[in-house]
Amino acid sequence: MKITAVEAAVLVWPPMDPPFWMSLLPVNRPHELVVRVQTDEGITGIGHSDQAGSIFRIGAHGEPRLANAARIIPDVIEPLLASEDPLEVEWHWQRIFGLTYRHHWNAEGWSRSSMLSALAAVDMALWDIRAKAAGLPVYQLLGGTDPKVPMYVAGGYYREGKGIDELVAECRQYREHGYSALKVRIGGMSLDEDVERVRAIRDAVGPDMKLMLDANEAYDSEMAIRASELYRDSDIYWFEEPVAWYEGNAGMKRVADAIDIPVAGGEQAATHWEAEEMARTAGISFMEFDCMRTGGPTEWLRVSEACKRLGVEMAPHHGAHIHAHLVSAASNGAIIEAFPDPAMYSSEDQLEHVRWDRKRELFSNHPEVRDGFMWLSEEPGWGIELDEDVMGRLEVTE
Ligand SMILES: [Mg+2]
Repeated sequence: MKITAVEAAVLVWPPMDPPFWMSLLPVNRPHELVVRVQTDEGITGIGHSDQAGSIFRIGAHGEPRLANAARIIPDVIEPLLASEDPLEVEWHWQRIFGLTYRHHWNAEGWSRSSMLSALAAVDMALWDIRAKAAGLPVYQLLGGTDPKVPMYVAGGYYREGKGIDELVAECRQYREHGYSALKVRIGGMSLDEDVERVRAIRDAVGPDMKLMLDANEAYDSEMAIRASELYRDSDIYWFEEPVAWYEGNAGMKRVADAIDIPVAGGEQAATHWEAEEMARTAGISFMEFDCMRTGGPTEWLRVSEACKRLGVEMAPHHGAHIHAHLVSAASNGAIIEAFPDPAMYSSEDQLEHVRWDRKRELFSNHPEVRDGFMWLSEEPGWGIELDEDVMGRLEVTE
């Protein structure tokens, strides 16, 4: 089999309205780099990356325009892969990764993170081809047997005018819709206010729901240790990114050693080297490496292997429909992160503002979410198909 084309599309959604917040940052404008790898045997591999920095910019009239890095696929990666065997996935990964420390790439002025995002999408597309050629879903190709992957819902974001009543109503709905694990934000308000929010959520969802906290690096280590004492009686399953960026793995370790809530992190790790270093030195119990932001499934599998040796479980950030395959197949795969399905909530709902998983509309098929699990299909590959109408509506072409 030979690669005949590597096509890229940059998609940009309208701005969030109203905007909503993680602990420290507003949620940015949704965008996606979509890659299709065509072959001479009629198999098409699909990949996409959801944190593809600097591939678009906003023009003078608020319209999205392509930025320099949008040229990575047609100018560099397609010529590299043309006429190559798509099944040599690791070899292609090495060749593309190698561009991040070569002259040519630097000469274009593209960021390293742009290259790693493009690599993520291309690598994902090659895994799609590999699994389709074998006639298996990716999780089965990797040795997995369980199509049912535990999932938590990410919610409880900050928004102007959203008080405890609205927050509690939101979290109750998740429980009513069958979710059995929920992650909410902390660190965006005073500690007293956040503790009150978390206690109200625990009271609302009852004792059986797993409850995780994500501070998005809003505390220093001393405050994170003090905060965990106050959150403790809310029965917290994990405490995610408890420590500000500047304290690094040593700060995380200080917190992990001092508290009895498991610590999670790693969604920002750029490579398997960085993720392994964190797993080895930061005292984390859950690794959240995101293969759709950087590196692709090939890199995720390396992270997973390293974490297995270190006794750390895999709980990848975002990209549930892809990470579900990897978590299903990994013996240390724990849980995936999902966002509420917009189709389940009315526009009057308090959940309107969390509809940022609007990227779901990109696919004409999506794995079923039921009873707190994602149910993978028997479709070969990742089991996803692009909705061409949506692609046409959102693609930025100049
Ligand atoms: Mg997080």
